[in-house]
Amino acid sequence: MALVASIGQGQAGTCPYCNTTSGSKTLYPTVDMYEQHFMVNQCGECHTVYLNPPPTDVQLAQAYSEAYYGEQDQKFNSLVERVVDFFRKQRAIIISSYVPQPAKVLDIGCGNGRFLYHMLRRGNYEAHGVELPGKAAERAAQVKGIHLKLGNLNAADFPTGFFDAVTMFHVIEHLNQPRQTLQAISQILKPGGIAYISMPNIDSWQSRLFKGKWLHLDPPRHLFFLSPTHLQSEMKSLGFNLISERYFNPEYNPFGMQQSMLNLFCSKREVLFEHLKGNKQYVTGYSPANLFLQNLFFKTTFPLFMLYDAVEALFKKSATVEMVFQKQA
Ligand SMILES: [Zn+2]
Repeated sequence: MALVASIGQGQAGTCPYCNTTSGSKTLYPTVDMYEQHFMVNQCGECHTVYLNPPPTDVQLAQAYSEAYYGEQDQKFNSLVERVVDFFRKQRAIIISSYVPQPAKVLDIGCGNGRFLYHMLRRGNYEAHGVELPGKAAERAAQVKGIHLKLGNLNAADFPTGFFDAVTMFHVIEHLNQPRQTLQAISQILKPGGIAYISMPNIDSWQSRLFKGKWLHLDPPRHLFFLSPTHLQSEMKSLGFNLISERYFNPEYNPFGMQQSMLNLFCSKREVLFEHLKGNKQYVTGYSPANLFLQNLFFKTTFPLFMLYDAVEALFKKSATVEMVFQKQA
């Protein structure tokens, strides 16, 4: 998902999440796909993990260039895209189970609009999306029935208490002002409304094991990482109760393990992922045999890592988490 705008250069030593100046510690270094170096810091006060220094506008523009969405009309080749779309449909089924129709739903960072498309197909849902201008937003604009707002979400964009549900699928880590966005969600949701948020789990075993080479660290696009317990306390302070959390996730977690393992052996990060996306330019340094073996590793060990994720999930240490909050009535 690509909901991010220019990020200001924070004052040295100031936490860009909570703005305290009590100091942060450096956890580990990381290198992005373009060989740019960053440090991963953690605030001593709120414990938010963040990329330091914040990426520049130029670095972000490069990272969100066309290649991020794939060179063809879709982010992935058609088989992978069909699998991804299956999971979007599952999310629509879950949301509709929480929010009876008729209802108004907002997807922040709606990408190509396919989740909202599936919501519209489920019945009497009014579908709103927010996305930054670009290729994904152009695709969302083509989906009939979606009310699309280009740019960032502002609470003033919608009346107070307007929505029955607001969703953010792997978006919060991209935002340059995540706290303000959570506050905006609280304002535009009606009492009893649902906020569905998924994100990388910085408290995961994968994050601790692979550090700067962890797939879901995804520098420079991922700017902030709140732990699941931190997000829960933030939402509680905004008047929400956690009603469901899910850690087991075949869409994100087994591949997080596989790609992070491959990152230990490859000089560049995310080679297999880019190969699967059809990014030929990025993988030119890798022979067809090398890419074939990486692909074979992916396909043959996937069930194993899915089982492993079931274990991670038991301890809430999976690579990603989905949390459903309900605004107090
Ligand atoms: Zn902080």
